[in-house]
Amino acid sequence: MSTVLVVDDNVDIRRLASLSLKGAGYTTVEAASGSEALSIIAATPPDLVVLDVMMPGMTGFDVLRELRARLCHLDLPVIFLTAKTDISDKEQGFELGAEDYLTKPFTPKELVLRVKAQLRLKSEGDKLRDDVRRQEQLSCTDELTQAYNRRHLLQRMKEELAEAVRHERSVSFIMLDIDHFKQINDTYGHLAGDDILRQLADLARGHIRQEDILARYGGEEFGILLPTTQAQTAAFTAERIRSVVQGNKFTSGQLVIRVTASIGVAGFPADPVTTSDELIELADKRLYMAKHTGRNQVVGPENWQSAA
Ligand code: GH3
Ligand code: MG
Ligand code: MG
Repeated sequence: MSTVLVVDDNVDIRRLASLSLKGAGYTTVEAASGSEALSIIAATPPDLVVLDVMMPGMTGFDVLRELRARLCHLDLPVIFLTAKTDISDKEQGFELGAEDYLTKPFTPKELVLRVKAQLRLKSEGDKLRDDVRRQEQLSCTDELTQAYNRRHLLQRMKEELAEAVRHERSVSFIMLDIDHFKQINDTYGHLAGDDILRQLADLARGHIRQEDILARYGGEEFGILLPTTQAQTAAFTAERIRSVVQGNKFTSGQLVIRVTASIGVAGFPADPVTTSDELIELADKRLYMAKHTGRNQVVGPENWQSAA
């Protein structure tokens, strides 16, 4: 159940408001001053605040101002409950961002109804925000591996490459393809193949930075975009990933499965690429070379190994 903080310097009003709300099933917390209210809110945020205006020290208006300035991330609904009935006071209250304004003397039932209405609005708003966030995340995530999907990768690559060209920064791209994956599927089954894809994504994620974008590029291909990273550094990262993939025991149920991967790496400005198509094409070409010169290896810009 929701918790309501009742703030009033008058103990009788505080009790009456608190009792009415408890009667309606809410949990209540009381504060006798603005500063007490703020410390309670900062320590354990309630779901809503019923706030008196005229109090010694900080007024209710001061409290709300402070709330919206310092604690706005809490997104806390505030209902003023005050003896100030002037329209100019109400105007000030609403302008400061109060959700509602109720004047004393008040009917307990009305207070409960208004609290209920504000809490409903808040939970609807929260749900909507969660839905939007979930939808945004779904639209850029690969369901099987929880890596980003190709669409998101391409969009980020365009942005990062444009930034890199404009500000003379580096950006690199790693393209990884599992070796003989068809054979793995044929031998152990498609579900085992799926387990490997998931585990490989987790493994790769553990060897890149927070700001790098790991994406499932296609069936058994992964792309990693590395902002502000030179191609040579990216090739070393790729080599580390190649090596942990080779050493890893992938599992599916009781099965232990070994796989290797081939990797192509390209980057701006080490390579003559200025568009995402060119960057991907070159990484893909190097991946193809890695495949056709033995697999289980990284092909990057010329002599990348020598720059250790
Ligand atoms: P290479 O070393 O040349 O890359 O050989 P390969 O067998 O890995 O390459 P190929 O492109 O011939 O086969 C890719 C296989 O990946 C075929 C396809 O069934 C499998 N695959 C693609 N997507 C998925 C998936 O989502 N799950 C599973 N289990 N397998 C997939
Ligand atoms: Mg493959
Ligand atoms: Mg492939």
